[in-house]
Amino acid sequence: MNLSFNSVENQFVGSFLGGISVTIKREDRIHPMISGNKYRKLKYNLLEAREMGCSKLLTFGGAFSNHIAAVAAAGNEFGFETIGIIRGEELESKIPDNPTLSYSASQGITFKFVTRSQYRLKGEAHFINNLREEFGSFYLIPEGGTNNLAVQGCEEILAQVDQEMNYICCAVGTGGTISGLINASNKDQMVLGFPALKGDFLSEDIRKFATQDQWKLITDYHFGGYGKINQELIGFINEFKMKYQIRLDPIYTGKMMFGIFDLIKKGFFPKGSQILAIHTGGLQGIEGMNQKLKQKNLPLIK
Ligand SMILES: *Cc1c(COP(=O)(O)O)cnc(C)c1O
Repeated sequence: MNLSFNSVENQFVGSFLGGISVTIKREDRIHPMISGNKYRKLKYNLLEAREMGCSKLLTFGGAFSNHIAAVAAAGNEFGFETIGIIRGEELESKIPDNPTLSYSASQGITFKFVTRSQYRLKGEAHFINNLREEFGSFYLIPEGGTNNLAVQGCEEILAQVDQEMNYICCAVGTGGTISGLINASNKDQMVLGFPALKGDFLSEDIRKFATQDQWKLITDYHFGGYGKINQELIGFINEFKMKYQIRLDPIYTGKMMFGIFDLIKKGFFPKGSQILAIHTGGLQGIEGMNQKLKQKNLPLIK
């Protein structure tokens, strides 16, 4: 299995207040759909599945999940059958209207739609056993793709040239990506995570995987919770695209970048700091978000 991908480069964005420089690692360019950190998180899991002789992947996700799209695309590209357990029974009849689900279906994924209360049982042995009865044996990838092998993959995001950066910033969902960054960073670096959702369980989850402790979560930029956005964020994302020709997604990277620029304004970073922001991808989610924005007569993401 050749898991090679487009090379990732750092893109200098600019120098701002106090000589603080911002550079973006373009992980979004790895692959259009197996994007950014989802590729990193899948890599060693796919190798492990192959090693085990398992040709079927099963995972979980919501209606607009970057992870589901990535697993479907990876399955198609590398020859795995894929099964997606999707939160929300009502979505079954709406696949053609949902860009993430219809794309994933085009990649050959088999869906099983479950109610929200069934979905909550996804960590339980009984629930998994029922799935094994229904689908046969499979390699299980958790929701969001985070496990030890995923963290190992995310440790490869940082390269030698990044050693001189003072801050490494990333968006946080389940905490797998930041854990890899923490493990691969040096003692003089500070890793800042910007959670895309509310909840204080994240620090504990990160501690399960992280081997060092020079990191911190900045919890002020979730914009009301997972998938929640407002006009200010949309305006920021569109302005960012216009100024730097870099698209940000509204769920993760847009919120992180908004946070970084706000913190620069507020004097959070010492003068002359070099900030490396990880663009973890997620651009496939823009279309689905724009559908919702259109319904609400809000400005769209460009
Ligand atoms: C899934 C995702 C994240 C969150 O990664 P975790 O490892 O779950 O914390 C961040 N950014 C993007 C674009 C994602 O798709």
